[in-house]
Amino acid sequence: MPIEIGKLQDANQTIDNCRYCLMCRHVCPVGHVTALETLTPHGWGLLIASQRRGLAEWNEQTVEVMYSCADCGTCRAHCVTDQPLPEAIASVRSEIVAQHLAPSVAYELNERLQKWGNPYQEQTPETAGGQGEVALFVGDAARYLRPAMVKAAFDLLRAAGVEPVLIGGGRNNGYLASSLGFPETAKSLAEATLAELAESGASKLLVLTPGDFFAFNQLYPERLGIAWPQNVALEEVLVFLAGKLEAGALRFNPRGDDTPHAYVDPTHSVRVTTRYDAPRRLLAAVLPGQPVELYWRRERTHPTGSGALRWTNPHIGRHLTYARLGDAAEVGARLLVTEDPADLAQLAEHAALFNLRVEGLYELLAGQLA
Ligand code: SF4
Ligand code: SF4
Repeated sequence: MPIEIGKLQDANQTIDNCRYCLMCRHVCPVGHVTALETLTPHGWGLLIASQRRGLAEWNEQTVEVMYSCADCGTCRAHCVTDQPLPEAIASVRSEIVAQHLAPSVAYELNERLQKWGNPYQEQTPETAGGQGEVALFVGDAARYLRPAMVKAAFDLLRAAGVEPVLIGGGRNNGYLASSLGFPETAKSLAEATLAELAESGASKLLVLTPGDFFAFNQLYPERLGIAWPQNVALEEVLVFLAGKLEAGALRFNPRGDDTPHAYVDPTHSVRVTTRYDAPRRLLAAVLPGQPVELYWRRERTHPTGSGALRWTNPHIGRHLTYARLGDAAEVGARLLVTEDPADLAQLAEHAALFNLRVEGLYELLAGQLA
């Protein structure tokens, strides 16, 4: 059972369990790209435990350390006792925020999230209205970084016989605020989305990425104390489409392209362990050549720099993205395909450095509909 982390006492228990444990040190992506012992799971555990014992204090240097964790979930995914270390770190960040000691960019992002619902554009979320059995959560990154992806996903769903009501267009799912240490902002974003979902009357919510699935399925109850509505099923669009493909209800024209390609599991994939085959089956239907696989894939997927680090520590964020691209180049890929719009933005920005090309899975699939 996941451990409740909303209370300080529980965060302290996790920290005490992690501070002298090395069992997930080898999988932490930030530890990998920085080669700094402080920036590994037990390093964060030791720092927080030391602060609790009066042996360290929150100052510019220690706060920078606290804001260097990617909140990617890889440590917890490899923990045999399911210690919620990322949740504990987010909880400690909220203490730092309350003491007005967090990096200034964190407060600026929180203001943007409170005012605009997203960190990308000064525009309030769209409320599409309408009712239907199935709703699709658009979110902020798809709306502002990759609007063509929303149309592609809609076209694919229509081809599979579903016309969803679009909700949450331009609104962050709450993860960013939670990760930065602003649970109240995350809660108000979550409540706005759940109110929109209730208004739509939908009994199923489809989401575009594993990041959205994690936020609704796990982050809301664990970090925000918000239960997912029992009468609403939650499913990823790609898992839904893969089911339709297998049932013969969706068909694609394969693309004549033998570029060595790899699927990049999106950030947060380690937190949704039932989803790994679906995007690969869909990709195989449009690119029939033999794919290559990254080393850091499936249940050991590493993030790109698309999370809060993009703003709080862009240097580490960039190196996380370089590491994904380097992994792909090393196994011989020339074309990378994935679906998370924030990951796509990060990968595309630096792909040329590694002689790689990047394509969005939704757009690729929609372009090959039979
Ligand atoms: S998350 Fe688990 S494996 Fe990792 S340091 Fe904590 S107790 Fe150890
Ligand atoms: S959440 Fe990710 S970056 Fe942070 S300690 Fe765990 S594995 Fe490392």
